Amino acid sequence: MADKKIIAVVGATGAQGGGLVQAILDDPDGPFRVRALTRDPHGEKGKQLASRGAEVVRADLDDPGSLRPAFRGAHGAFCVTNYWEHFSPEKELSQATNLAEAAKAEGLKHVVWSTLEDTRRWVPLDDDRMPTLMGAYKVPHFDAKGEADLAFASRGVPTTFLLTSFYWDNLIHFGMGPKPGPDGKLAFTLPMGDKKLPGIAAGDIGRCAYGIFMRGSAYAGKTVGIAGAHLTGAKMAASLEKALGREVVYNAVTPEVYRGFGFPGADDLGNMFQFKHDFEREFCGARKLDESRALYPALQNFDTWLAANKARIPLE
Ligand code: NAP
Repeated sequence: MADKKIIAVVGATGAQGGGLVQAILDDPDGPFRVRALTRDPHGEKGKQLASRGAEVVRADLDDPGSLRPAFRGAHGAFCVTNYWEHFSPEKELSQATNLAEAAKAEGLKHVVWSTLEDTRRWVPLDDDRMPTLMGAYKVPHFDAKGEADLAFASRGVPTTFLLTSFYWDNLIHFGMGPKPGPDGKLAFTLPMGDKKLPGIAAGDIGRCAYGIFMRGSAYAGKTVGIAGAHLTGAKMAASLEKALGREVVYNAVTPEVYRGFGFPGADDLGNMFQFKHDFEREFCGARKLDESRALYPALQNFDTWLAANKARIPLE
């Protein structure tokens, strides 16, 4: 145990980090052991992680003083921020910067930073195809992550920039599953027209990160995009119909209509889907299916994910 290299996992109690924790625990003969970071080591999830064999330590991304000891002695770290907890791109950038500073100060050999595109590189703020949000962003929960890439790169932290994809779990937890329309038929709403949406099982992101740590620091400095499938809304509806045994129609609304849905973050997500629609070739091209599967050979596709999770999708 003592000769194993420590991977410090931010977001260990969450979807992405949780997948990596599980991958490390599932490979007891592998080269790594896991240090799970959480704000609340004595909470239910923290205690559960400890009972499964993880070292659990307290760390808060808003408290730089807590990050250095949490990274001390580690070989690597998985770094993720949770935009949806505060809806502030500035806070997300500041948290990522705290992570990069701690990683540099503690001399980590390999960091995997869970990032997304800074969409302003493709859609400058004066491009009025979509509204500018919060005065400085097109897709706030993407842009700050992409901007934060530089926090790692400029400090010389050996970082793999991991471009993630839409979680299929959003159909369970984010209210994005099919809903009955006035005619009783289930409608799957997505503003993607006939373009393909790269998607993934959220837990598989951490599994792919494990594959990156296994490949070692040769992956430092690289950008790696992952997805379990690239699917149109029509294809997703067809898979849902087959899995649920009920008719599901694809409801391809416009991004403008989606932005107007009014739930918190609807404008951000409307812009996000429009970006994925308008830049389908680049966005899918950055997330290669064969490379993703090479990192984690048991990577789920939408049908295998549905087979395991269909009963968890709320249909009301
Ligand atoms: P999650 O399951 O919602 O859990 C959030 C995790 O972040 C928890 O483990 C939490 O730890 C940790 N965390 C949050 N604030 C923290 C802080 N101040 N200090 C320390 N830990 C903190 O998270 P997730 O889904 O794995 O990741 C969220 C990110 O994924 C978001 O930024 C989102 O934009 C991105 N993303 C989402 C999708 C999607 O389709 N939904 C796709 C790609 C990327 P504790 O509570 O235990 O401290």
